[in-house]
Formats: sequence, structure tokens, C-alpha cells
Amino acid sequence: SLPKSSTEHLFKVIVIGQFRVGKTSFIQRYVNGLFTENYKATVGVDFAMKTIKWTENDIVRLQFWDIQGQEDTTKMTRAFYKNAAACLIIFDMTSERSFEFCKELKEAVDSEVCDKYEMPIPCILLANKCDLKEWAVTRERVDQFCSECNFLCWKEISVKRNEQLEESVGCLIEVVMERS
Ligand code: GDP
Ligand code: MG
Repeated sequence: SLPKSSTEHLFKVIVIGQFRVGKTSFIQRYVNGLFTENYKATVGVDFAMKTIKWTENDIVRLQFWDIQGQEDTTKMTRAFYKNAAACLIIFDMTSERSFEFCKELKEAVDSEVCDKYEMPIPCILLANKCDLKEWAVTRERVDQFCSECNFLCWKEISVKRNEQLEESVGCLIEVVMERS
């Protein structure tokens, strides 16, 4: 039989969170398999593309948008949010402030962008740096916040140890594919 041609799905994924929570590290690790302890602030917006063979017939291309680390601002430009299909909000498990900031960020996303059904775009909350011992937030608190603010789910991740990155993105793709 003739091979079926596969369908390509392109999704824009915005990655947001406070300064230094690990946004750029997440994208670098997930897209390029790289990690570095050397901190280099993102200037402007960075893009990275990852191609995934999702099913026999579906190719998913994720275009990650990484914003520069302006501390405590939710005021990204319209272009940053425009046509985003999904969102990752990251905080640092050892920083309470970075966790609390996620509330404002989620509200900003929900007010700036929606899907074709006028519904909020799927959004996952990522607790990064779980390899460190000094957790500043309890799991119970994150659980509660996650349901209050309508995240799809939250995941404990470590970009450094490459833990739960594939799972997190997989979870997002599943929902985005369902709704597309
Ligand atoms: P951004 O400002 O949100 O883009 O943050 P970066 O990705 O530049 O990361 C900030 C710092 O956190 C860097 O020094 C990273 O090496 C470090 N970092 C990122 N992810 C992890 C992690 O999972 N564990 C630990 N211990 N450090 C991390
Ligand atoms: Mg950065």
C-alpha cells in the first residue's frame, strides 16, 4: 500500500516566568539537549523549534518563544502572546517570590490570548530546580494554586537533571492536539 502522507501541526508555545527560574535552560535542554550552569540573560525574544513525530501520521512542530528576564513584569508585547497555542509558566521551587508571581502571569496570559473557541489557552505550571533541597513552597500549596488558577496540571521538574521535561511537553501537546 502507498505510504500515507503525514500532517504537520505547528504550535507556538510561550514560556514565561520570573527572572532566573530556568526558562532559557528549559528550552535549551528540551530542544538542543544542552545544560549549563553559566547564567546568560536572554536579550529580547529567543525562538527555538522542536519537531516531534507524535503519531504515525502527525508531525508536531513546537515553536518556543522565550522572553527576556525583566523581573516582575507581565507586560510582554502583543506580538509575544499573539497566536500562542499553549503556555508554560515556570517558577523556581526554591523561590517563593517566583511562585507567587505565577498568579499575575497566568492572569496576563488569560487576558491577552485565547484559542479559536475564545477559551483560555492550555497552560502548564512547572516547578523547576527540584534537584535543590531548599524548597520554599509545599506541594499542597502548589496543588491548590494550580486548580484555583486553572492550570492543566503542574509538574516537578529539574532541567539540570533532565527530569520530567518530555512528560511536561507531552502533556501539553496532547491537549493542544485535542483542541486543534
Ligand atoms: P531564565 O532567566 O528564566 O531564562 O533562567 P536561565 O535558564 O538562564 O537559568 C537561570 C540559572 O538557573 C542558570 O544558572 C541555570 O544554570 C540555573 N538552572 C536552570 N535550571 C536548573 C535546575 O533544574 N536546577 C538547578 N540547580 N539550576 C538550574
Ligand atoms: Mg532567559
